[in-house]
Amino acid sequence: MGYTAAPLEKLIEQFSQFPGIGRKGATRMAYQVLSMSDADAAALAEAIQNAHTRLHRCRVCQNYTEAELCPICSSAKRDRSTICVVETPRDVQAFERTREYHGLYHVLHGLISPMDGIGAEQLSVKELLARLGSGEVKEVIMAMNPTVEGEATAMYLAKLIKPLGIKTTRLAYGLPVGGSLEYTDETTLYRALSGRDEL
Ligand SMILES: [Zn+2]
Repeated sequence: MGYTAAPLEKLIEQFSQFPGIGRKGATRMAYQVLSMSDADAAALAEAIQNAHTRLHRCRVCQNYTEAELCPICSSAKRDRSTICVVETPRDVQAFERTREYHGLYHVLHGLISPMDGIGAEQLSVKELLARLGSGEVKEVIMAMNPTVEGEATAMYLAKLIKPLGIKTTRLAYGLPVGGSLEYTDETTLYRALSGRDEL
């Protein structure tokens, strides 16, 4: 590898942090940024900074929002008796695209994965449990991706939630195993949601 100017090297290192981006891809992105006008580069930097400073986790569901409560948690039209538990904010978007789910969500921001050293305490599990004490919630839907970690997380949560007398369900099978909810079409997602099974 030849000489790389320090600021360029720094930029390559930053881009290398993105999932699926290797050194080669990061280098391409870094050069792309260098070829931008000063104004475009400043706009990019500002967009990153704004997203970071203006957005934070919703006090209730942990999805990203600008306000203290996200639009779903603060909507009077949502059914407060049902919570759909998902791995990422992107999964919320996937379910919202079906336009058929009218309950609330809870974003875990990850899955339990002992192999990667991720336990329940690193996820928003205690925030979920805190929502279940009022008696308002009648059903919690485990809507994790159909992977080993997704299954393990669903089982772990069901064990905590069932003793509270709250119905615990999971998405019906029919989702591609190992696939991602994010990339599942609306019809399949809706079918999995409406045909859910009790855990
Ligand atoms: Zn919320």
